[in-house]
Amino acid sequence: MTQLNVPLEPNEEQRAQLHDAVMAFAERFVAARASAPASSSTADDTRLRRLLTPPGERARPLDRVLEDFADALDTGFDTTSPGFLSYIPSGGIYTSALAGFLGAVTNRYTGGSHASPGCVAMEESVIRWMTSLFGLPETAGGVLLSGGSIANLTAVVTARSRFGEDFRRGVIYASTAAHHSLSKSARIAGIAADRVRRVPTTSQLTIDVDALRAAIAADRAAGLRPMMIVSNAGTTDTGSIDPIAECATVAKSQGAWHHVDAAYGGFFQLTVRGRERLESISLADSITIDAHKSLFLPFGIGGLLVRDRSTLAEAHEGRGSYMQDVAAGELPHYFSMGPELTRPNRGLAVWLPLQIHGIAPFREALDHMLDLAEWAAEQISAMPEFELVCECELSVVAFRAVAGDAESRRIFEAVNATRELHLSSTTVDGHFVLRLAFLSQRTDMCVARRAVELLGRISASA
Ligand SMILES: *Cc1c(COP(=O)(O)O)cnc(C)c1O
Repeated sequence: MTQLNVPLEPNEEQRAQLHDAVMAFAERFVAARASAPASSSTADDTRLRRLLTPPGERARPLDRVLEDFADALDTGFDTTSPGFLSYIPSGGIYTSALAGFLGAVTNRYTGGSHASPGCVAMEESVIRWMTSLFGLPETAGGVLLSGGSIANLTAVVTARSRFGEDFRRGVIYASTAAHHSLSKSARIAGIAADRVRRVPTTSQLTIDVDALRAAIAADRAAGLRPMMIVSNAGTTDTGSIDPIAECATVAKSQGAWHHVDAAYGGFFQLTVRGRERLESISLADSITIDAHKSLFLPFGIGGLLVRDRSTLAEAHEGRGSYMQDVAAGELPHYFSMGPELTRPNRGLAVWLPLQIHGIAPFREALDHMLDLAEWAAEQISAMPEFELVCECELSVVAFRAVAGDAESRRIFEAVNATRELHLSSTTVDGHFVLRLAFLSQRTDMCVARRAVELLGRISASA
C-alpha cells in the first residue's frame, strides 16, 4: 500500500505518483470496456453501506481509495459498456475526459469573458459552430449548461420573461411524449400546472398539430395566451420527431416562443439523414442540445441555443456589487445568459475533442448509430413475435411483444439478466415497451446482432 502524504499542493514527485496511479486505473478501465458487461452482478448492500462511510480526518492509502472507487463502479449498470442500450446512452469519449482534466487543472473562470477572454472565445467558437450547424441567423447565440434539463429550464424562463407579469395568462404546449423536464421546468419557473398543456400525439407519437391548434383556441377563448410551443427533435422514448415546420408556423401566428427539444436528436443534424429528418429546425427560437448525448461526451455538457442572443440576457441578466468592475465586452458573459454564475470550463470539453478529431468522425459515428438502429428495426419488425411501436427515425428502436405486456416484460427482464446488454423500458399508449437505444461510440454491429439474436432466442423460449 502506498501511503502518500500529499499536501493540498503536491510537489512534482507527488504529482507523478498520483498521476501514475490514476492513469493506470483509467487505462485498466478503458482497456476492459470492449468486453465489459452492461450491468453488475454483485449484490450492493454491504458495499453501499461501506461506501456511505463519511471521510475521516486522516489520509488513506491511495490504492485503497481507488479500490473503493472501483467497487462503486461495479454497481448498477455500466453506461460505458458497448451493450448499454438503455435510456439515452452516452459512452463518454476519452479526449473529452482529458479536456475535463485540463479544464480542472487550469481552473479558468469562464462565467464572464473579462476573466478569461481566451477560454470564452474558444467556447464561443463551439457555440457558433452549433448555431450555424442548425442554420440559425447571425443574431444567434447560446450557452453551455449542465444538460438538457437545465437547458429546457433556461428556455422556459426565457419564454416566460417575454410575457413579463402577464405570464400568469401564458400557456406552454408540449406533446405527451415530451421530456418530463419541461413540466418540471415550468414548475420551477413558477408557472402553474394548469398553464401547461400536454397535447396528444399521432400514431407516430409526434405532436398532433390539429389538437395543438384546438387547445390554443380553447385557451384563447378562456382568456389565456400561448406563451411557448415545444417541438421534440427526437423524443426520449422512441426518437420521434415532431413536425417542426408546422409547429413553427403555429407558434409564429400565435406570437408564442418556439422551443425545439433536441437534447437527444440534435447532433444527428451532422448526418445527411438527420438533417433531412430535422428539417426546419432552423426556424426555432431556441434549441436544447445535449453534447453528452449525441456528441458522445461525458456527462455534464448540454446547452441552449437561441435565435436572438439578446433574449437570453433579457431573461437572465443580474449583477451584484462585487461584479461592478466587470464591463461588457465583445464576447458574452455567460452568467447573463443562464442560471449559473461559476461553471466548469465546458467549452474546452467540447472544443478539445472537436479539434483533436475534427468533425468527420462524429458524423461517421452518428451515421453508424442510424445504421445499427435501422438494421435492428428491420430485423425486429420481421420477427412475428414483435411489433415496432412506431417507425424508427433516429437511433432508438421501440417495440413490444405481440403476445402482450406480460411477455414484453418477461423478455425485457431476461435480456437484462444476461448482463450482456442493458435495456430500459417505457410505456406507450398504456403498453409496456422495450427499447434499444444506440448512442455509444463503443456500440457496434456485434452488439446489434447480439441484441436481435437474444430477442429471438428468449421469445422462442416462452
Ligand atoms: C435527456 C433528455 C433531456 C434531459 O437532459 P439531461 O441532460 O438528462 O438533463 C431533455 N429532453 C430530452 C428529449 C432528452 O432526451
